[in-house]
Amino acid sequence: MEAAKTVAIAGNPNVGKSTLFNSLTGMHQHTGNWAGKTVANAHGCCRTPNYTCTLVDIPGTYSLLAHSPEEEIARDFLCAEKTDAVIVVCDATCLERNLNLTLQILKINPHVILCVNLMDEAEKKGISVDFSVLSESLGIPAVGICARKKKGIQNLLHTLDKVLAAASENKSDFHTTSLTKCRCEADITAADDVNTAKAGHTDADTLIKAAESIAAKAVTFHNPHYRAKDIRLDKFLTSRLTGYPVMILLLAVTFWLTISFSNYPSALLSHLFTKLEGVLSALLFSIRTPLWLHDLLILGAYRVLTWVIAVMLPPMAIFFPLFTLLEDMGYLPRIAYNLDHCFKKCRACGKQALTMCMGFGCNAAGVVGCRIVDSPRERLIAILTNSLVPCNGRFPLLITLSAMFFTGTASGITGSAASALLLTGFILLGVSMTFLASRLLSATVLKGLPSSFILELPPYRCPQPCRILLRSLLDRTLFVLGRAVLAAAPAGVIIWLAANITVADASLLTHCAGFLEPFARLIGLDGVILIAFILGIPANEIVLPIILMAYLSTGSLVQTESLTSLHTLLAVNGWTPVTALCTMLFSLLHWPCATTLLTIKKETGSLKWTLIAFLLPTVFGCSACFLVNSIGKLLFHV
Ligand code: GDP
Repeated sequence: MEAAKTVAIAGNPNVGKSTLFNSLTGMHQHTGNWAGKTVANAHGCCRTPNYTCTLVDIPGTYSLLAHSPEEEIARDFLCAEKTDAVIVVCDATCLERNLNLTLQILKINPHVILCVNLMDEAEKKGISVDFSVLSESLGIPAVGICARKKKGIQNLLHTLDKVLAAASENKSDFHTTSLTKCRCEADITAADDVNTAKAGHTDADTLIKAAESIAAKAVTFHNPHYRAKDIRLDKFLTSRLTGYPVMILLLAVTFWLTISFSNYPSALLSHLFTKLEGVLSALLFSIRTPLWLHDLLILGAYRVLTWVIAVMLPPMAIFFPLFTLLEDMGYLPRIAYNLDHCFKKCRACGKQALTMCMGFGCNAAGVVGCRIVDSPRERLIAILTNSLVPCNGRFPLLITLSAMFFTGTASGITGSAASALLLTGFILLGVSMTFLASRLLSATVLKGLPSSFILELPPYRCPQPCRILLRSLLDRTLFVLGRAVLAAAPAGVIIWLAANITVADASLLTHCAGFLEPFARLIGLDGVILIAFILGIPANEIVLPIILMAYLSTGSLVQTESLTSLHTLLAVNGWTPVTALCTMLFSLLHWPCATTLLTIKKETGSLKWTLIAFLLPTVFGCSACFLVNSIGKLLFHV
């Protein structure tokens, strides 16, 4: 059987490479409307009529003269790996810029297909593309597609089939050409045309001019003002006067929607689980299950697991799609643009705003995303400060505690608005801490001046509500919930054992909590909360379930059918609003989870920086909690 053909999907950032990769392979690579999401190669499988192909989705790059680590990955793959063909994906609405890379790739690999994506957007903007002109000028096949709607994919597969067949014919030539990255760069930068060189042009200039002239022949703009709407919207979303207020408002509205709309499904789920509890309990008794086992399974495991689902699922199922909606519309790079000034002031890179936004999803992903920051010093700052913003796993605790403790007597819209504002405050605190930490690092261990960079503001794109709902539900919500449920089970066993193994008249849990109690009290927590954060190192999602399990295992058995009874459980265990505030603060500012720490070690290759990444948020968190606790004690004498 013939070996699978290797086909690279290359192109500028944000032109739909991953969307095409997903369409061809049926996989679910992360897509989003901003440059820099893909920072590593992704592999998948697809079939053309005659070949099986290994598709490689490589990071987006503007040129083969790499500037950043992820561009280096793209360059190294295209220059040094044996690819049988390359699909160069271009954006139909800005073909001229995209063609430059196509010409560069053509110089090192003749088996190229020009795949012009986003044809639907081009049509809307009154832009038409002449594919025969493109194909003739470049000497390669050119096809138009709409990757999102999977239009033109069959045509692309047939074209790929022909290109692979042609590549097989002169296989020996092609495969013995082992291009090194040096050779590749030299190839592009060296002036190969003597006359052009004499005229003082570099080869790079020649390619840019060639791209301009091909695009001028192949593209027709029927509406010269096609960008007017985007420009007007940009003025509003990124101007000095309106940029910041809109950003904060959007954040607050996102939280408000999350909190107001999650109460009803939460209550409904709790009601269902309570009913089911009765049935399960009766079933266990009917098969003569010993009382201790019944209690362990129903009052311990079942209640905690159903609590995790009832309380965490609805807010996540609302928050994550809303966040993905903003990402898909192209708002994230506008945040980076707005925050660039602040990051510069802290001597860090404005692109850090993007990696920070990725951190809201997952800090480990945010750390890997820091590859988009070109300067090693600024990349390190971005890595070390990434966990100062809360990830998926920490949002449920923040949302639940703020709804439980800080809506006061207010309910409905007012209550939700109050806790949404509190949450917005927390996020802004995380962002301020990121600035503070970046400034501290750049004034001490990572001294240096901020570098300049080019940030691409992508066009505003109409999001796909169904895809957003499905992907954020499957990729984020269920992933987080699954991790919480999975990690909660072994943690539950540890807690149950710790609560039931007695040493010198007290359980192990009481001993551990007692040992941590003095320090925990100092920072407004208690021993149990601190243990939960320590046991939560594998995954932040399990902190609140562990706290509950620990309180339940010490005898206070309460029904967990609503937030009110949970509030009662916490209050019985000595929680005050100050405890809740300190727990929220500590959740925002404490050591990164194990996955993030491992990723930091991998990305920096240094134990020292991993340790600093551990200590930095922890010191911030302990100091902030100590401060709030002391002020709380002074004000309320608690
Ligand atoms: P990559 O950075 O090149 O991998 O780009 P992505 O695959 O992440 O896509 C960038 C954005 O363009 C995402 O918001 C996609 O939903 C959107 N997109 C991709 N293909 C199309 C298309 O054919 N039409 C439209 N309208 N949007 C698309």
